[in-house]
Amino acid sequence: MSSGGVGDTDGYTIITDVRQIDFNDEAAVMAEIEQFAETYAYADIEHALVITPAGKVYSLRGNDVVVNPNIINHEELFRSIVVHNHPVEWADSFSPQDFALFFERGLLREDVIFGNQHNIMRYDGIVIDSSVARELYRNAFQEVRQNAMQTQIPLELEQLETMRQLSKTMKGLVFIENPR
Ligand SMILES: [Zn+2]
Repeated sequence: MSSGGVGDTDGYTIITDVRQIDFNDEAAVMAEIEQFAETYAYADIEHALVITPAGKVYSLRGNDVVVNPNIINHEELFRSIVVHNHPVEWADSFSPQDFALFFERGLLREDVIFGNQHNIMRYDGIVIDSSVARELYRNAFQEVRQNAMQTQIPLELEQLETMRQLSKTMKGLVFIENPR
């Protein structure tokens, strides 16, 4: 699938805006992310912002369960920053799909916004296949679930706990919570 223009859609996700910034202007990049977070923190459908190394900024709108950054050219997604929100109804950190996307497309950074939470992931470890990433996520999720059963402490945010677990066990993974 290849895309790039306003109105392009896969039926679920649509490109609503494309504009240009200077990717090397860190303040401009941060302002885009901050603006997105403020706008969509409590949205009831998923939105995404893709900032490519060439400085192209795509705004995407999905639906109540998904927004698909893969409608952007995969060459453009490489080393991009992808930011999206999770609707407050099921607000939690990175899903298995979000986590796999990072490795599948070789992203530079991925952010997820849900309510007043802002989580960021980066990775500077050895290159791994997205299938390996999926398996690591699955394993961490199992550990977190087992731990919850043993300690009888209920898991409120399963994906957040899984990310915390991964950040302890996965070499090169940087996971940041609430940087604001
Ligand atoms: Zn997500």
